[in-house]
Amino acid sequence: MEDYKQLLTKLNETIWDYAELKFCEHHSAQAMADVMRDQGFEVEMGLAGMDTAFTAKAGAGHPVIGLLAEFDALSGLSQCANVVHPCPREGTGNGHGCGHNLLGTASVGAALMLRDYLKESGRSGTVVLVGCPAEEGGSGKAYLARAGVFDGLDVALTWHPGGGNAVMTGSMQANCQAYFRFKGKSSHAAAAPYLGRSALDAVELMNVGANYMREHIEPTDRLHYAVTDTGGISPNVVQNHAEVIYLIRSTDSDKVKALYDRVCKIAQGAALMTETQVEIVFDKACSNVLSNSVLEQLLYDSMCAVPLPQYTEQELEFARAIKETYQDVDPGSDLSLLGVTGAKKRQLSQRYREMPMADFVVEHQHQDMNIPGSSDVGDCSHVVPTAQFVGACFTPGTPAHSWQMVAQGKSGTAVKGMLYAASVLAHAGRQVVDDPQIAVRAREEFIRETEGKPYVCPIPPEVLPNMNANS
Ligand SMILES: [Zn+2]
Repeated sequence: MEDYKQLLTKLNETIWDYAELKFCEHHSAQAMADVMRDQGFEVEMGLAGMDTAFTAKAGAGHPVIGLLAEFDALSGLSQCANVVHPCPREGTGNGHGCGHNLLGTASVGAALMLRDYLKESGRSGTVVLVGCPAEEGGSGKAYLARAGVFDGLDVALTWHPGGGNAVMTGSMQANCQAYFRFKGKSSHAAAAPYLGRSALDAVELMNVGANYMREHIEPTDRLHYAVTDTGGISPNVVQNHAEVIYLIRSTDSDKVKALYDRVCKIAQGAALMTETQVEIVFDKACSNVLSNSVLEQLLYDSMCAVPLPQYTEQELEFARAIKETYQDVDPGSDLSLLGVTGAKKRQLSQRYREMPMADFVVEHQHQDMNIPGSSDVGDCSHVVPTAQFVGACFTPGTPAHSWQMVAQGKSGTAVKGMLYAASVLAHAGRQVVDDPQIAVRAREEFIRETEGKPYVCPIPPEVLPNMNANS
């Protein structure tokens, strides 16, 4: 790790500075690919119709260990680093509010260390770093899965920066997203309203219908919408166009599809009622995360084996000052506590409330629970046995997608968390190289869970990555 500390610290800063949005991470992906190429990896850039998707390979033979790297930022989160108040950064409207600068960089570090181990040990094994664009609302990994990029892997490992250290378990939700575009007839709203047919009425009626539908869906299902076009700002014109976007979540892709079909019927009903037309544009989808207890245990053992970071007083002071800015947030919502319930959750939440940085690994227990929220890691997990963990980079409870998360992205604590995560991933990879039976057992569990059914991408074949969408 000492060999790569400087390189990784710099790469993390570079990607944080670029702060590029989904599918437009040209500089960030290039920066990572350049590092890999310089280090002797075989790099393939531009996969599955995405310029910023890449793989970097080294080694030969089985086990083939995939490490997932993300690097996209979020819009509306421009923020200076290492300050404890909101302070937009000049020259960009974006910011790394989910820590994907750290995520991708640690995976790069793990790939380098694992390659070195393969070389030194002379053992059979291949390491594949998969550069995954557009995690934030783009479902980049679903397109990679559809194109077969994960097919040759024996296991896939990844992580996510958060406020604590924990192996992720349970299943995150499958989802899909679609635009409903209504077209009507404009008219003077006072002089000739009877000639107009309002597209905005159709959007409103559709939303009313969807809100009644909520009574008749499973408690774990979710419907979210945003009106993306109100048809103009003049109330005295009958709006002849309007649009609403729906994001639908459930426990698996089949259930999402069934909900989506019902929402489409409601849209058609709204169009019928208002004598407007509706065009439905499917945007993207991702699968639920399929957990793997064999790989979860592997990650937990590695998290316990690698020494946790030690922080300087100055670093802890910064973490405390950040904590002061969001006292009303529930630390139980931290990514690292999603798999914990009951008294244990209350107790750990209280510890998180008091401590500037988490200094322990949450005891792991494999869970078969539904976790609200989605990740396109789901699609990778339906192709290859996959597991992920959360590594402490931020003061516990830091809300995701917030200026506080952006501000901490280059801090000493975040960099130490990133280096820890790289070491954990590399350690886990080494265990699989030393004992390929781990990959075999993980595959057996995967086959049991999927009942041998092949992966079906929840995105229809004709739908391509939506490069024009805003984050
Ligand atoms: Zn994220």
